[in-house]
Amino acid sequence: MRHSTYLEINLSLLQENYSKIQAMTRARVLPMVKADAYGNGIVPISQFLVEECQVERLGCATLGEALFLFNQFPALNAEMMVFSDTEISNPEIAEAYKHYAITPVLHQPSDLEAVLKNPSLKNIPIVLKVNTGMNRLGFTLDELEKISSRLKGRGVKHLMTHFACSYYPLKNGDKTHRQMDEFKKARKILENAGVEVEETSVANSGAIEQHFGLDETFVRPGLMLYGPPSVEPKIWDGHQISRFVTKIIKTFDVKKGTPVGYGINVAGEDGFIAVIPMGYADLSVTTISGAEIVIKGHKAKFFARVNMDMCFLFFHPSSAKDFKVGDQIEIWGHSNQTISDLSSQMKTIPYHLMCGVTNRIPRIYKVK
Ligand SMILES: *Cc1c(COP(=O)(O)O)cnc(C)c1O
Repeated sequence: MRHSTYLEINLSLLQENYSKIQAMTRARVLPMVKADAYGNGIVPISQFLVEECQVERLGCATLGEALFLFNQFPALNAEMMVFSDTEISNPEIAEAYKHYAITPVLHQPSDLEAVLKNPSLKNIPIVLKVNTGMNRLGFTLDELEKISSRLKGRGVKHLMTHFACSYYPLKNGDKTHRQMDEFKKARKILENAGVEVEETSVANSGAIEQHFGLDETFVRPGLMLYGPPSVEPKIWDGHQISRFVTKIIKTFDVKKGTPVGYGINVAGEDGFIAVIPMGYADLSVTTISGAEIVIKGHKAKFFARVNMDMCFLFFHPSSAKDFKVGDQIEIWGHSNQTISDLSSQMKTIPYHLMCGVTNRIPRIYKVK
């Protein structure tokens, strides 16, 4: 565990983000808490969402995530859905779904087959993911057509799909609209076969930000709850709920041509270097090398190789007077711009940085 490098999570900002989303729609909000709630800690985040935001249902990617949450916090009063890696055809795993009343999202005919033929799953709600054009998981419309008659008595509790391109500004007739049309057809197929569809959901952050897909039973925000907007130019003005901070552990001046750290990475000009205790075992990326952040008005460039436990910030020599050992360095802060700028310099997405904060980093929770 670290002490000087930590992720500070402000739950009041989570509440503000949540309330803004809820104010946009009459749909119920089903927060995604997969991947340790996008790196923010699945247990405290889920507890806060359920107890302070009155959320009733949460989404994970794997059964293990849901089980971990229930193990850590047995009293949590929330329904859990597992959206991708369900393993429902494994009979032992099927027992765990039943025992904990966790709902798997079935995404292919063999999943449905496994549920229908397993007597111990005869009461689990049927939740189906439809492939409307993302072409990753989900029943095709042809597959739905084929299985619909078998669902007649049982009905479908929840029908959902996932958008591939909702982070692009919406235009009539674009991919997201076409996926929505396919989703409506999917629903029709079931209803025409006499299968009742109780609930639906389609929208992730990109869609919600653009007020698209809000007329279903649920919306499923992930990123926008925790941080930056998906859509650029940005519409959503939520907060980054986390600040990722570290401290300077050493400073020194370098002359142009001096090699620094592993390998031969020489200073391109005279400068001032701060060593910070944040390596790839803390933020699991190496491509941060070369990226620039601004600290106390000074430009700081991640320089040379990122080590397991440390990396280097390179400053202009004139910055030296404003920095000393022990000073705090904010890698990203509550302004969404900081994590968006950093991730775009690294040619990746904010999700990657948020999920890249490893378990060596303590999560510190506060409310305003
Ligand atoms: C992760 C996920 C979401 C949330 O996506 P964001 O882009 O983070 O809002 C929604 N639905 C499903 C099925 C997901 O897996």
